[in-house]
Amino acid sequence: MTDKTTDNKAYLYSASAPTSEQEGRFLAFLRKKYGEETELVFVEERELSDGFRLQIGNDVFNWTREARLEQLKESLKNLANRDGELIPLIRENLHDWTPKACAEQIGRVLTVGDGIATVSGLDSAFYGEILIFAGGLRGMVQSLTEKCVGCVLFGDASDAGVAAGTLVRRTGRISGVPVGEEFIGRVVNALGEPVDGKGAVAADKYRPAESPAPGIVDRAPVKRPLQTGILAIDSMFAIGKGQRELIIGDRQTGKTSIAVDTILNQKNKNVICIYVAIGQKSSSVASLVHTLEKKGAMDYTIVVSATAGDSAPLQYLAPYAGCAMGEYFMEKGRDVLIVYDDLSKHAVAYRSLSLLLGRAPGREAYPGDVFYLHSRLLERSAHLSEKRGGGSMTALPVVETQAGDVSAYIPTNIISITDGQIFLESDLFYSGQRPAVNVGLSVSRVGGDAQTKAVKYAAGTLRLDLAQYREMEVFTQFAGDLDETTKAQLCHGQRLMRLLRQPQNRPMSHHGEVIALVAAGSKALDGVEPEKSRDFVMSLIDLCEREHSELCLRIDETERLTDEDKAEIIGAAARVIL
Ligand code: ATP
Ligand code: MG
Repeated sequence: MTDKTTDNKAYLYSASAPTSEQEGRFLAFLRKKYGEETELVFVEERELSDGFRLQIGNDVFNWTREARLEQLKESLKNLANRDGELIPLIRENLHDWTPKACAEQIGRVLTVGDGIATVSGLDSAFYGEILIFAGGLRGMVQSLTEKCVGCVLFGDASDAGVAAGTLVRRTGRISGVPVGEEFIGRVVNALGEPVDGKGAVAADKYRPAESPAPGIVDRAPVKRPLQTGILAIDSMFAIGKGQRELIIGDRQTGKTSIAVDTILNQKNKNVICIYVAIGQKSSSVASLVHTLEKKGAMDYTIVVSATAGDSAPLQYLAPYAGCAMGEYFMEKGRDVLIVYDDLSKHAVAYRSLSLLLGRAPGREAYPGDVFYLHSRLLERSAHLSEKRGGGSMTALPVVETQAGDVSAYIPTNIISITDGQIFLESDLFYSGQRPAVNVGLSVSRVGGDAQTKAVKYAAGTLRLDLAQYREMEVFTQFAGDLDETTKAQLCHGQRLMRLLRQPQNRPMSHHGEVIALVAAGSKALDGVEPEKSRDFVMSLIDLCEREHSELCLRIDETERLTDEDKAEIIGAAARVIL
């Protein structure tokens, strides 16, 4: 008799549960082969849509496509050695061909704990490979040593009955996620499994979570704007499609709000948004999804959620999973916006699993490859060349600082990887200046290239005016007597700052931004009370939309602003009554 399992269980790995007829056939087969009654345990493995794998003890019956092809190849080789007509021989061989128990590497768990398992006997397992434990729990190989491999688990080991001695099987597959159109509008976990209770998602295909970033030749310059709808950002730190712009600031400074507003602003703009929540409270993610739903933004958004309650491996995997989903659309020529909220927590998750795997800690106890961890993630955002379909993936990673310290390890790493940062400051936030964008420390290295001509022209010297204002404000704080020019500059600056205050969840339209900037630039605001500057501009936009609708349409369509248009807006500004 063949070597037999001790627990009398045969594990059937397949994409869907066997029908009762199939189950009967399996049981008959097992009885014939192993003599006595064996229990058949079904384990779902979604990637095996074209076959199954039956494991009993150390025997594995492989009926997956690759294994069948491999066996067919072998038998054809044998046929070639025999004389006679080849075709009938092939036919005869195909008819009575049965899968054989083939030698596969089966490992055993040595130790398990804290979401990490060490496994012996899997000598040829590779980094990032998915392993399946008897009982169905999955893990990913994260460390390779001479005697064993270290593997992070995607679930609770004790729930799944994984203990020392449990059998482990290789899949030969790198960790990945299912991707497809149907994921739009859904909330999924880091493994691509829906967590919103709306049923299964039909995937188009399975993509590796990690894949190489597009090379230089495959990329096109970042030129097209991705409007955030936030005046302070679009006017001074414009973001282009394919860019990586960091949102950085202390806790509770409105980082998530900027990302959410940007997602809301993509409505009807043919951009697919992916929001990856890493290590946040489930309640925050739920309220965010609620906001997106209420504003109709879930129609074009995927939420990938690995909350603080999820294991470190899932938190580590989530951004890669989200990125793989984004790449699927990017390669189809679509525009994608992906938000990683936030990468500080991602680094912490990676640190905890690295330390558990016994890696040497480096600066701030992070493992040495934490820079590479984030660079290989963010490098995958790109604007592809026409030849590659012209799609794009814009990344908005979020990083949390401690007491505004941008020179800590993780913030400096990510600042140097990205193409600019929006720096949010607590002091500004608490003084009521929200979004609390620090004009001096924020930058977009793509800048004007990614602005529409209209916004660029209308914004004019806004950034310079604000910089001057901030400097002057400090100097004149205690001075009583000021000359007229300084007074005028201060008065103008105050109104600009007021104008840049923008309530949450209310992104501005493109023409709205242009009108606001023209009004500010023409000093039309300087005669208004500072507190009323925003109301003034809002009324002006309203007036233009009502009485100058062709003007608004023209600005949006041509993305240009002529001198006549500008004069028309300034003319309208004179008619605003507050
Ligand atoms: P955390 O560090 O907890 O992730 P965060 O930096 O992501 O916080 P948010 O959650 O976006 O910050 O915002 C913090 C608070 O500030 C929220 O209560 C939000 O409603 C408020 N807020 C954010 N932006 C604005 C805004 N533009 N106007 C008014 N309130 C705002
Ligand atoms: Mg947040």
